[in-house]
Order: sequence, then C-alpha cells, then structure tokens
Amino acid sequence: MVSYKELGLVNTREMFAKAIKGGYAIPAFNFNNMEQLQAIVKASAETKSPVILQVSKGARNYANPTLLRYMAQGAVEYAKELGWEKPQIVLHLDHGDSFELCKSCIDLGFSSVMIDGSSLPYEENIALSKKVVDYAHQYDVTVEAELGVLAGVEDEVASEVSHYTKPEEVIDFATRTGCDSLAISIGTSHGAYKFTPEQCTRDPKTGRLVPPPLAFDVLDAIMEQLPGFPIVLHGSSSVPQEYVDMINKYGGKLPDAVGIPEEQLRKAAKSAVCKINIDSDSRLAFTAAVRKVFAEKPGEFDPRKYCGPARDLMEELYKHKIINVLGSDGKAE
Ligand SMILES: [Zn+2]
Repeated sequence: MVSYKELGLVNTREMFAKAIKGGYAIPAFNFNNMEQLQAIVKASAETKSPVILQVSKGARNYANPTLLRYMAQGAVEYAKELGWEKPQIVLHLDHGDSFELCKSCIDLGFSSVMIDGSSLPYEENIALSKKVVDYAHQYDVTVEAELGVLAGVEDEVASEVSHYTKPEEVIDFATRTGCDSLAISIGTSHGAYKFTPEQCTRDPKTGRLVPPPLAFDVLDAIMEQLPGFPIVLHGSSSVPQEYVDMINKYGGKLPDAVGIPEEQLRKAAKSAVCKINIDSDSRLAFTAAVRKVFAEKPGEFDPRKYCGPARDLMEELYKHKIINVLGSDGKAE
C-alpha cells in the first residue's frame, strides 16, 4: 500500500470547492508518456494552476502501473524544481470499470478515482459506485461517479448514442453513493469526431462543421438539484482546427473532425462544472507536430527531434486551456 500523500499528491476535495466558489474549472489532462507529462507539469507550474493528471485503464497498461506511480511522484518533484513551491497535483484514474481496478489504483498511490457505472442499470451503478466510495474514503481518496451516457470512443469506453443525465435522479444518486463529484452527460462526447455531419450545420464561409450546442438547460436543472456539488465534463476537447489542418496538410487524414467550441466550455467553467477533461486535443497537437517534422525533414530519425516539437506544442495547448478556457491560472500559488 502506497499512500498518495507520500508521493506529494493531493485529492480533489479542496480544489473543487475553491473552483466552484471562484467560477473556474480544474484541467484534467490525460497522459501516457513522458513528453505529455513534461508538458502538463511545465504548463501547470508556470501558470500556477492546480492540475489533474488523468490515466485511463488503457494508459495504465501502456505505461505500466509501477512506472506510472513514480512518474507522478516525479511530476511533483519536477514541479517544485520549476519553482512551484506547493504543487497541487492529483493522480486520477479515468473511467475505472471495476471495483478491483479502482482498489488497485488506490493501493498504488492514486489520490482520486473515477468509477464509471454509467452503462449499468441505475441500481447497479449506485451499488458499484458506493462500494468504491466506501473503500476510497478510508484512505482519503476522492471518487468521481457518472450518471448519463456520453457518445463516442475513448480507449475501451464506447457508446453510439448519448443519454443526457436525468436531473431528477442526481440527488438520490449523489446521496446514496457518497461520491465526491459527478460526471454528467449534456452533449459532450469522446474522441475527435464528437458529432456526425448530420448533427451539425456547416459554416457557409469556411465549409466547416458547426456542432450543436451543449444542453445548458440540463446542467442548470442538475445544479438546481445539487447546489454547489462538483460537476465534471468528459469529452471536452475542442479539436482545434489548426491542428486538424496541420495533420491533413502533412499527409494525415482527419476529415470533418469536430469538438466542443471553447466559448461553451468557458461558460461551463464558470458554473459548478469544476473539472473539464481534455485528451484528444493533446493527441492532435502531438500528431500534428510529429507529422510536420516528418514531412519537412524526411531524414530525421532522432526521436527527440520530433517528440521535442510535439512536447512544445502540447505545452502551448495546455497553457492556452488553463489561461483562456478554464481560468485556473494563479489558483495554486
Ligand atoms: Zn471520459
């Protein structure tokens, strides 16, 4: 058993309470390699933003659970080296799909876990989420649960259609599970293809897809039921067109990739939404930078020469999200 506190990590409780009061959201950036982690830590340290390092089951297997734990510990030390005296860094399991997986993460130093029982029948979701909460809270680890189904694909999480969270269920669900935060479905979606062209309209000037707006009425109804309760948005990449264009220009093929417009996320961040998950955008930045080097310098074969520019572009992206979208800069001095 390794306590996250020994690794210098924190749970989400205090940072969410502050974020709701302050009208901003904490970035939850997925990572599975060193360059992503370096970029996340640098962007957070330089902007003094609390940050959630988020690891999916797939990423955990990709990186190796033991190596990952030391990477998170290294992230805290690296942040201090960069001049961030009291780093507020969470290590969070994204989309835990079983009690055993959540337990194993808690036992290996995670400070926060998500149990995603959203595809289960309502009562089974409650029972599973409660079981994880009961275990996690013994070690002061915070738990995110989910109600409602998102469309799209993220690692092993896939659903063709979305079902909005039912506001009339949230009090019962939050009370009976004891969860610390709730992931909801209001029209965000996993992946770089969040909407089909049929769901969108097309901008006549640029020919680009314009996605349907998020269901802010559902969010409002949920916040009315659970005033001040931490709400989480998954699938909230914006799929920046500049990266998609770069990928396509240098030999990639991402037709009609579309995400959530940043002004909608900005609006959400000001509400009880206090954690916004961003994964696809950094994948796009990484891929765009690597493709550019490969296209312009076909003789290059030193990974540092293409992973380095990828890291720089991701760092720029993370800073942009922190400062211009979530408003979490300067909140962890
Ligand atoms: Zn998700």
